Amino acid sequence: MPMIFTVAAALLGAAVGSFLNVVIYRLPLGLSIVSPPSSCPCCKTRIKPLQNIPVISYLILGGRCANCRAPISLRYPLVEALTSVLTVLLWLRFGGDPLLFGIYFVFLAAMVAVVFIDLDHKIIPDSISLGGIVVGFVASFFTPVGWVDSLMGILAGAGSLFAVAWGYHLITGKEGMGMGDVKLLGAIGAFLGWQSVLFTIFLSSIAGSVVGVVALKLMGEGRDYEIPYGPFIVLGALTYLYRGPELIDWYLSLMG
Ligand SMILES: [Zn+2]
Repeated sequence: MPMIFTVAAALLGAAVGSFLNVVIYRLPLGLSIVSPPSSCPCCKTRIKPLQNIPVISYLILGGRCANCRAPISLRYPLVEALTSVLTVLLWLRFGGDPLLFGIYFVFLAAMVAVVFIDLDHKIIPDSISLGGIVVGFVASFFTPVGWVDSLMGILAGAGSLFAVAWGYHLITGKEGMGMGDVKLLGAIGAFLGWQSVLFTIFLSSIAGSVVGVVALKLMGEGRDYEIPYGPFIVLGALTYLYRGPELIDWYLSLMG
């Protein structure tokens, strides 16, 4: 596929990553994501278009506000770079089918927003999770997933995580996962079908356990660490989106 499209995908991803920074900051606060334009949180100076070029502006400005020199969080260029890389990978996988690429790009953007909103606030906004269930179901009419698998995905997302949450509660006596995670899994099922839900639960619980154990070792035992589960769910879902069927085949071949 021509190189120019890959470059275009990288630029598209960086631009949308820049928009996601706004979404991540404003959505949980109930602020409009379209107005007013971004300004420096320190001196309130409006950020000019030339100072708002993803990644590049951050590097040119040395990570500081052009006006008051207040430091800008490294998170902003990182989200832009991450979205850019993920978009290129998505293009390499689905670029042959622009409609499919477009649908999964919307899904990808929502997942990136979920990760950082959950890290910041330990919530997953309903507008993304419940909105994702609706959009994902409608989109399934145009993807190989189809509406039947999508509907089963929504139900599997809700049902199976309830089971996991119930089991976790039974074993530890603690609340492991919130309703936000359940709704998020429903949205993933809506976009990618019920198979993705099983895969995502499997991978996210392994990744979550590993990180949980490491955190416990690093920070000492006997305390209660609240690690948001959303980022692990997103990790599982994106792994499925990019390489899921191959990984399932590989796993089944190991099983003989
Ligand atoms: Zn400033």
